[in-house]
Amino acid sequence: MKNETLTMVGLYEMAMASTSSRSSMSTSAVVALTDVQKEYDRGGTSVTALDTVSLSLPAGSYTAVMGPSGSGKSTLLNLIGALDTPTTGSVVVDGTTVSTLSEAERAELRGTTIGFIFQTFNLMPRLTAIENVALPLSFMGVSRGERRDQAASLLADVGLGDRLEHLPRELSGGQQQRVAIARALVADPSIILADEPTGNVDTETGAEIMELLQTANDNGNTILLVTHSRRIAEHADRIIHLQDGDIIERERLDGV
Ligand code: ADP
Ligand code: MG
Repeated sequence: MKNETLTMVGLYEMAMASTSSRSSMSTSAVVALTDVQKEYDRGGTSVTALDTVSLSLPAGSYTAVMGPSGSGKSTLLNLIGALDTPTTGSVVVDGTTVSTLSEAERAELRGTTIGFIFQTFNLMPRLTAIENVALPLSFMGVSRGERRDQAASLLADVGLGDRLEHLPRELSGGQQQRVAIARALVADPSIILADEPTGNVDTETGAEIMELLQTANDNGNTILLVTHSRRIAEHADRIIHLQDGDIIERERLDGV
């Protein structure tokens, strides 16, 4: 929950972060982690959540992360999503070294460069579907009319063209997740981060959500997906297996 809240807060922080600190450092990878270690302090004891992980996500790739509970999957996603910074090592997202950014700059990076999809959908409860999807654009200087046009078009793409004015609570779980996918795509992010996006929906709805992610990837979006399910992970081009904070296997799937 903490991280979902942070993301939402980030959208608002962006309104205040006026300067961009994106460097023009060129890299073929959308995301590059080099010797990343993340330690948490838990009651005076240090817990190593990630232990010298190096990883590169090429533009247009589709990567799944699997591993038992506590293996560091969410920590990895939070570091790439600029919700947190590494203890040592570097995280570069879209040419920007995340650890050099201020809080406000990280919030801006989250809003403009990263699309988040969560297990719990995490829509703004008082905003309609179209307002939820348009929200990221309101911090990017896009006019109100244009925001609504883009949001309506994306909602139509995910099959919700007739649900624009519904509130989240008036939508099924699957519909809410489709709104969340539209919201994740609206700012044309460099990477989509999805943490167990099918965890709270039935199998059939899960298949529909995976189809939407596949379409996003076919359209050139780079995707990093955390899942417990081998069947879900097999939608990706490759699977990274985490255990105790280490990458223990990098698997490339057939047909790539
Ligand atoms: P996963 O998502 O694979 O279940 P996490 O990345 O959430 O794993 O956690 C990895 C390890 O780091 C676990 O041992 C977890 O208890 C610990 N951890 C994660 N977040 C925190 C935190 N904010 N404070 C202390 N320990 C944490
Ligand atoms: Mg997790």
